[in-house]
Amino acid sequence: MVSIERNPTRAVQVGSITVGANNPIAAQSMTATHTQDVEATLEQVNALHAAGAGVIRIAVDSKKDAAALPSIRSQTEANLAIDLQENYRLAADVAEHVDKLRYNPGHLYHHETEKPWQEKVKFIAGVAGDHDCAMRVGVNCGSVDPAKKEQFDEDDSIGPMLASALEHCELLDSIGFTRYVVSLKDSDPQKVIEVNQRFAEQRPDVPLHLGVTEAGMPPDGVIKTRIAFEQLISRGIGDTVRVSLTVPNVRKPEEIEAAQGILADIAIGRVRSVVDFGLDTLNIISCPSCSRVENEAFIELAEEVKQMTAYAKDHAITIAVMGCRVNGPGETDDADLGLWCGPTHVNLKKGSEPIGAFPYDAIIPRLREELDRIINERGDVAGTVAGV
Ligand code: SF4
Repeated sequence: MVSIERNPTRAVQVGSITVGANNPIAAQSMTATHTQDVEATLEQVNALHAAGAGVIRIAVDSKKDAAALPSIRSQTEANLAIDLQENYRLAADVAEHVDKLRYNPGHLYHHETEKPWQEKVKFIAGVAGDHDCAMRVGVNCGSVDPAKKEQFDEDDSIGPMLASALEHCELLDSIGFTRYVVSLKDSDPQKVIEVNQRFAEQRPDVPLHLGVTEAGMPPDGVIKTRIAFEQLISRGIGDTVRVSLTVPNVRKPEEIEAAQGILADIAIGRVRSVVDFGLDTLNIISCPSCSRVENEAFIELAEEVKQMTAYAKDHAITIAVMGCRVNGPGETDDADLGLWCGPTHVNLKKGSEPIGAFPYDAIIPRLREELDRIINERGDVAGTVAGV
C-alpha cells in the first residue's frame, strides 16, 4: 500500500457513512431513470447500493419528482442525496427523506431573480439543518454563477468556479453550517486537477467530492477520470468520487465498479502517467445521463457519434453530446461541435453558433458535414489546433 497523507478535512456525516477526516473515500453515483418512476428509480438505487455506492444522488426538478421520494426512501437502505436545480425550494419537500442536499450555485439565479443568492443558500442550509442532512455545493463548469464569470477574463474558466465555491463556503461557515462538501467539476481532467488543487490550497479543511463531468463512454471516460483522480488523490485531495459514464441504465453500476477500481489501483501505487487529453486528438465528451434525459435514443446517439467520428481521431476537435435541454446548451459552450437532445430533435451548434435542430435519424450525417468543414477550415493538419 502507498502511504498518502490526506488533507485534514472536516468529518461530514452523510447517512450511514462519514466522509472526510481520513475516512475511506466513498464512491458515488446518480440515478438516470425518471425520478417519478418509483419502480425504475428504486431498482437503480438498489443496484448501485449493491455495487457499493456510498451515496446515490437523485434529481428532483418538480413536485412530482419530490412526491416519489418517500416511497423510494422506504424501500432502500442506501444513503440518498438529492440534486436541486433552479427550484431550490423543493429542498423543503424532500429533506426528511434523504441524507444530503446538493445545490449548484450557478442555478440559484433562475427563480426569484430579485432575491439575493445568500437568502436562497440560507434557506437550503436551514432545511438541511432541520432534517439532519449534509450538503454539497456543486460547482460545474457548464453552469457557473454568471456574476462570478463577469469578474474574470472570458478565457479563464477556473477563476469563476473557484471564486464561486469559496464564496459559498464562506457564507455557510458564517451561518454556522459546516456539514458540507464541495465539488468543482469540468469535462477536462486537467482543469479538474487545477481547480481542485487551488481550492484545496485555500480550504484544506473542506471535504471535496471529485469528478470529471461528461467523461463519456467507457473505456475513454474511465481513463479521463482516472487521470484526474490519480493526480488529486495522490496529493491527499478528495474524500468522495464519482466516475460519470454514458452507459445504458442497466449498466449504471459500472460507475461504482470503475471508481472502486481506480481507488484500489491508487492505493497500491498502480498509476498511469498523465495523458494530455484534448490537446492533439479528437475528444468526444458525453454526459453521464440522468433523469432529465428526454429521449433514451441519446445513449445510442453518443455511441454512433463515437463510431462515425473515428476517422477524425488525429484532429484536435472536441465534440460534446448532452442528454437534455436543461444543461445541454450551457455545457456544450466550450466544444467545437455541441449536440443536445430534446424529445424528438437533436440540437447542433458549432462553437457558440446554433446550426439547427435535426431529427434523430438525420443528425449523424449533418454532424459529419460540420466535422469535415472544421477539418478543412483548419487546413487539414491533424493535431495542430487545440480544440478548446
Ligand atoms: S446534460 Fe442533462 S441529461 Fe445529461 S447529466 Fe446533465 S442534466 Fe442530466
